[in-house]
Amino acid sequence: MEEWKKLVRDTVNTPEKLAAIFDVDLDEIKRVHDVFPIRINPYYLSLIEEPGDPIWKQVVPDPKELIRTGFEEDDPLGEEDDSLVPNVTHRYPDRVLFYVNYMCPIYCRFCTRKRKVGDPDSIPDNNIEMGLDYIRSHPEIRDVIISGGDSMMLTDRKIDYIVGSLRDIEHLEIIRIGSRVPVTLPQRITPELCAILKQYHPFYINTHFNHPREVTPETEKACGMLVDAGIPVGNQAVLLRGVNDDPTVMVDLMKKLLKIRVRPYYIYQADLVYGTDHFRTSIKTGLEIVSALRGHISGLGVPHYVVDAPGGGGKIALIPDPVVSFDDEEIRLKNYEGNTYSYPSTSFYDEDW
Ligand SMILES: *Cc1c(COP(=O)(O)O)cnc(C)c1O
Ligand code: SF4
Repeated sequence: MEEWKKLVRDTVNTPEKLAAIFDVDLDEIKRVHDVFPIRINPYYLSLIEEPGDPIWKQVVPDPKELIRTGFEEDDPLGEEDDSLVPNVTHRYPDRVLFYVNYMCPIYCRFCTRKRKVGDPDSIPDNNIEMGLDYIRSHPEIRDVIISGGDSMMLTDRKIDYIVGSLRDIEHLEIIRIGSRVPVTLPQRITPELCAILKQYHPFYINTHFNHPREVTPETEKACGMLVDAGIPVGNQAVLLRGVNDDPTVMVDLMKKLLKIRVRPYYIYQADLVYGTDHFRTSIKTGLEIVSALRGHISGLGVPHYVVDAPGGGGKIALIPDPVVSFDDEEIRLKNYEGNTYSYPSTSFYDEDW
């Protein structure tokens, strides 16, 4: 049996298995698990150094998940409303999210799709064919993001079928997979899988590291294999209280990602999802982190900090405002050290100069 399949087989997926490893309150864990299931594979489990650390917080159920704070909804981004067929979210004119699997290598406690992950009923029998038909019949779609759950938990054959069928659609220009597998089950990235994926260029992967301790020899190897197969690998982190809501941690994460050839792409402000409010930070914290990145790391390592607008408005980027003043003659700008610089706001060749 392949190593990754053994890790999936030996996954901690019940409160009892978790209580056999850590000193946790079994009843409390059971109450949370009944609503939002546990799943931690032995590789990711091995990264936990002590209870309550940034790895633990991402996977061990917390009774706070059951608290309704008044901020949250089950589907705050209106993904279901933007779906004409189940599991294809068509929000932007030219690109869609295609949800193909309910299973993940771990179940992240902060997941935006907590309402679906781990639930086999979220995938109807003919899910893949319905999605493919929808994309085939909409020539305005140029870009598809295969999402989940995690498509890389499927078999090589099934992944080959899905990506290959998409590649046969003439109007599709790029194909992307969004997957936490390279981070949380890096053993799944095998030479066979890379050989399949590299047939379907232009093909991109966005993965999801949240903490520098997730950058290990195993994840470095997995990301290196993907990049060597010609697949650009980007990172979409989520800003999480108690995990990475600290400029030092985020600067360290971005530097480590660049070293393993993963390009930081987004930092998400946490969505207003039921069961995750204890992870959410203020917007101010996010802006402070982006300020700390700018100037202290190459532009290659500075992701966009985005809020996914509630109700399906799409992603909106926030930047710390560098404009001190701006009129017809000059713009005055603040740099990363807080010094102010003046720049002409017109060009000699402007028509109305
Ligand atoms: C994030 C997202 C995309 C892709 O957005 P990019 O900014 O192109 O990476 C597409 N559809 C939906 C519904 C999304 O949430
Ligand atoms: S791997 Fe992704 S989809 Fe799965 S639980 Fe984690 S954040 Fe959610």
